[in-house]
Amino acid sequence: MKNLMMNHNAKIYVAGHRGLVGSAIVRALHRVGYNNLVLRTRAELNLTNQAAVEAFFQSERPRYVFLAAAKVGGILANSTYPAEFIFQNLLMQENIIEGARRVGADRLLFLGSSCIYPKFAAQPMREDALLSGTLEPTNRPYAVAKIAGIEMCWAYNRQYGTRYLAAMPTNLYGPGDNYDLQTSHVIPALIRKLHEAGISRQREVVLWGTGTPRREFLYSDDLAEACIFLMNLNQKTFDSLVQSETDAPLINVGSGRDQTIQELAELIADVVGFDGLLRFDPSKPDGTPRKLLDTSRLSSLGWEPKTSLRQGLELAYQEFLNALDPATSPRGVSVHNPPGDKLLNEGDSRALR
Ligand code: NDP
Repeated sequence: MKNLMMNHNAKIYVAGHRGLVGSAIVRALHRVGYNNLVLRTRAELNLTNQAAVEAFFQSERPRYVFLAAAKVGGILANSTYPAEFIFQNLLMQENIIEGARRVGADRLLFLGSSCIYPKFAAQPMREDALLSGTLEPTNRPYAVAKIAGIEMCWAYNRQYGTRYLAAMPTNLYGPGDNYDLQTSHVIPALIRKLHEAGISRQREVVLWGTGTPRREFLYSDDLAEACIFLMNLNQKTFDSLVQSETDAPLINVGSGRDQTIQELAELIADVVGFDGLLRFDPSKPDGTPRKLLDTSRLSSLGWEPKTSLRQGLELAYQEFLNALDPATSPRGVSVHNPPGDKLLNEGDSRALR
């Protein structure tokens, strides 16, 4: 990368560094030579504790902040703990955004999500679709908290002259993903399900829905590179994203391509070596017919993802196989969870995003 805005010695705080997104950002930062990172586990710094977060910012004074800490979950978690979703996310983001302002951090990147766009947003979804319609009811508390985070970045930029930007990623997958079939996203769930079906020589696997909904996916390492690309934009370009009075400071990050769930399942079956039949059960819910981000704003700045879906799935599968040995697992993935047959689309998983 030429003309880096973030100096290689600058202190960078990655909040949520053990999560899917945060861990990818840390890997990407290390890859390009950023080593002055400040990282805190939840046990070391509970981000919902305002006094602790304020003390942390005062003592560490990071210049750049990646805000990838959040309470995230699928439909079940969102509907069981709606109060926790809104309360914890509001607290975490306001503590970090305010802490960053008080120490004069140069830039902050807040992780939003494609799932906070209106339920019936026109496809592909542009940045200006935010707040233009009714939200998906199942994750409304989470979405409202995230939208408040974006609004907060915007308000701070206007009142305090800060440079805070929100990245809006599409569905992600990658190293450190969650393979628990009860709570996982569609890709890790399919990888596990079809891997286990292959091992046990099942002749058929039944998947929820018609297989026709179209979805977009991005490899988490590509998202992380996009985040670093954004934080390194020259001041004029960055300011054009964060200093508008009329447009919220946000930018979509996706692959720009979607495929049907059936195409995805067939690709994963090929990657994991499952050669049985994939049967779809149309009596189960499908969810929204299509979810795709309009990524033209990011493309026009010169960023494109590097990892094709097939390459990303092969990498993810390799990581899944490595994780079968708990000693080498990034999250100690348990393969002893009851497989649970309630597969497998976003109606049943965090892929709601
Ligand atoms: P993860 O659940 O994988 O990671 C979240 C991180 O936040 C974890 O490291 C977690 O710590 C940390 N955290 C949560 N609560 C606290 C707390 N009270 N104090 C300190 N740390 C806390 O989530 P993702 O990486 O998937 O998501 C990160 C962001 O990216 C979210 O804002 C999400 O909306 C966004 N995003 C994710 C997508 C995806 O497909 N995964 C898609 C689009 C957006 P601990 O490990 O201790 O629990």
